[in-house]
Amino acid sequence: MKIESLLIHGGTDGDKHTGAVNVPIYQTSTYRQSQLGVNSGYEYSRTGNPTRDALEKVITELENGHAGFAFASGMAAISTVLMLFKSGDKILISNNVYGGSFRVLDKVFKNFNLNYELVDTSDIDAVEEKISEDVKAIFIETPTNPLMTITDIRKIAETAKKRGALTIVDNTFMTPYLQRPIELGADIVVHSATKYLGGHSDLIAGLAIVNGKDLAEKLHFLQNSTGAILNPFDSFLLIRGIKTLSVRMDRHNENTQFVAGFLKNHPAIDKVYYPGFSDHEGYEIHKKQADGAGGMISFILKEGFDIDKFFKALQVVTLAESLGGVESLVCHPATMTHAAIPHEVRQQVGIVDKLVRLSVGIENKQDLIDDLKQALQKAE
Ligand code: PLP
Repeated sequence: MKIESLLIHGGTDGDKHTGAVNVPIYQTSTYRQSQLGVNSGYEYSRTGNPTRDALEKVITELENGHAGFAFASGMAAISTVLMLFKSGDKILISNNVYGGSFRVLDKVFKNFNLNYELVDTSDIDAVEEKISEDVKAIFIETPTNPLMTITDIRKIAETAKKRGALTIVDNTFMTPYLQRPIELGADIVVHSATKYLGGHSDLIAGLAIVNGKDLAEKLHFLQNSTGAILNPFDSFLLIRGIKTLSVRMDRHNENTQFVAGFLKNHPAIDKVYYPGFSDHEGYEIHKKQADGAGGMISFILKEGFDIDKFFKALQVVTLAESLGGVESLVCHPATMTHAAIPHEVRQQVGIVDKLVRLSVGIENKQDLIDDLKQALQKAE
């Protein structure tokens, strides 16, 4: 099956007991055992649940992995993956990733002596230079949140493999519809499924997909032992969201290209970060490893334009954390999604105070431009 069909029929297709075309919500914590040691394959819902299983199977097929695991949030997925490592290990991490991924390493895992170092992963020489004996994984986003920095997944995976380190890719921005990192050599893919996979800003969820049996066994052990699982109802909602991913992503791609073109030519705007521009750094690499530019744009307002007035004036686009829903959302990374990153690091990597991040929804594209136009006018 091609991916558009896999999204709908992949994994567990419907319910074999009743013929229901959708996998039911198995809202149960436990399962009857007919005698000691004999069960249906399910014992307790932290360990396994049929609705969550169906979701884990479909995401495994979509990412072309060996096994998938569903968690209570993207951060729960990332944290559980980080528990694969031990005290004294070091993780190299792209230098403008989602603020929460940085925060959990900086403020939580560092306390357990799991170290990290920020690196510009778009520069393979810089990565090579930083790989020491203790580096056990390279954690990348491509494009990064929020500056859309492109990293060559295949090259990072080759470099990591040579040195015995794992490659972990946060594929939230692209989704498996546009980019499949395991096919490019990555070992682990993580998602904030809260975003495009769910697609409707109505749930919080995370996923992790691994490329082999050994990692699958380790991650399942951690998922069951530490327990940050996704519940049956949200598993059902996520399966439902995934079914329409192809049509939503096609529309996100189309609308975003249109909006990015408008912003690039607007006199109020200094710079637009969008991986669909042929002059965007890494454009050729992105084109090679992904099937579209996605639905995210970041831009810098020119001096003399008031960012507060801009946000206040928007009527169709909503000022809110998060991204990837059917509705357009805008945010201010410096004080919202990336506030956990120290000010000097933000300045260094380019998350400046006039930076705006826009998640372009699937509304009418002219409505979006009209709204941005009037808000930019009021910001002057
Ligand atoms: N990864 C990326 C790229 C994100 O944008 C986010 C959240 O914004 C996360 C991970 C964390 O996911 P969640 O909010 O579902 O915990």
